[in-house]
Amino acid sequence: MDINCSFPMCLNKAYWQCNCPGCPKTCDLHVQTHRIKEKCLMKNIKSLYLAVKARSNQNALDTLKFDSINLAQNIIKEVKSCLIGNLNIISNEKQRIQMLTLSNNESQVRAILNWVASINGIKRNPKAFISSLNMLLGIDKNSIELLKEKEKQNILNKKIKEDLQISNYKIKKMEMEMAKLIIENENEKAKRNIDLAIYFAMTEKKFGKLNSNLEIAVKKLEEFKIIFPSSKFKKNFTCMTLEKKKDFLVNYDFENFNKDFKVEENELVDIILTKDLKYIFVCKAQSRLEKSLYAIFRYI
Ligand SMILES: [Zn+2]
Ligand SMILES: [Zn+2]
Repeated sequence: MDINCSFPMCLNKAYWQCNCPGCPKTCDLHVQTHRIKEKCLMKNIKSLYLAVKARSNQNALDTLKFDSINLAQNIIKEVKSCLIGNLNIISNEKQRIQMLTLSNNESQVRAILNWVASINGIKRNPKAFISSLNMLLGIDKNSIELLKEKEKQNILNKKIKEDLQISNYKIKKMEMEMAKLIIENENEKAKRNIDLAIYFAMTEKKFGKLNSNLEIAVKKLEEFKIIFPSSKFKKNFTCMTLEKKKDFLVNYDFENFNKDFKVEENELVDIILTKDLKYIFVCKAQSRLEKSLYAIFRYI
C-alpha cells in the first residue's frame, strides 16, 4: 500500500495529513509549503502509514498460512481415514479369529495369521513418507530444495522418456525401410531371373535356327559335292553345266547374284572359276566372240 503526496507531479510518500477539505496528504518536502499557505493543522501519519503497509504485506503470508493449514488438514484427514480403515480391518479380523477358533476352524485362523505375518513383514520406509510430506507441505529451505531437485529429476526423466520414444520411432522407421529394400531387392532379383530366362530361351531359339541353317548348308554342300577350295572343287565346278553353276551361285547367294542377274531370264552366258580358285567371273555375252566381264566374286 503506497500513498503518494497530493502535490502535482510529486512521487514522494505522503507521511502528513491536514484537516483541509478532503484531508489531503503531503510528503516531508511539501508539508511546510502547504502548512504556510493554508495555515491548517498538520498531523504526522508516518507510523500509521507504515503499520498499514506492514499489514498489507503480511496478507501475502496469510495466504501461505491459509494454504498450509488447508493442505495439512487434508493430509491429516487422509492419514486419519487410513488409520480408521486399518483399525476397522484389525477389529474385523479379531472377531473372525474369535469365531473361527470357537468353531475349531484352524485352517482359516492360520490363513489370517499368515496374512498378519505378511503385513508385518512388509518393510515400509517412514523416511520416504517424511520426504514426500516435506516436498508436499514444507516451506523451509531444505523442503524447497528437495522439491526443486525432485522437479529437476522429473524433467530429466521426461526427457529420457521422450528421447527413448524418438529412438524407438527411428529404429522402427529404419526397420520398415530395410524391409522395403529387401522386398525391392527380391523383386529385382526375380525380374532379373525372368529376363535371363527369356534371354536364354531366345538364344536357344537362335542357336536352333543356326543349327538348322548349318544343316541345310551341309546338305547343299553334300548335294554339290564341293570341297573348298581345292582342285576337286575346281573339277566339280568346271564340270557343272551353266544351269548348275547358276543354281550354285543362287543357293549360296553370292553378292545378291539372283537379284542382279535375273537368272530366270536366261541372259547369263558364262561363269568361270579362276585358276587360284579365289574368284568366280560372271560374263555377259554380247556377241559370240565378245564377252563382257559383268562381275567378279571373291570365292574365299
Ligand atoms: Zn491543509
Ligand atoms: Zn510532496
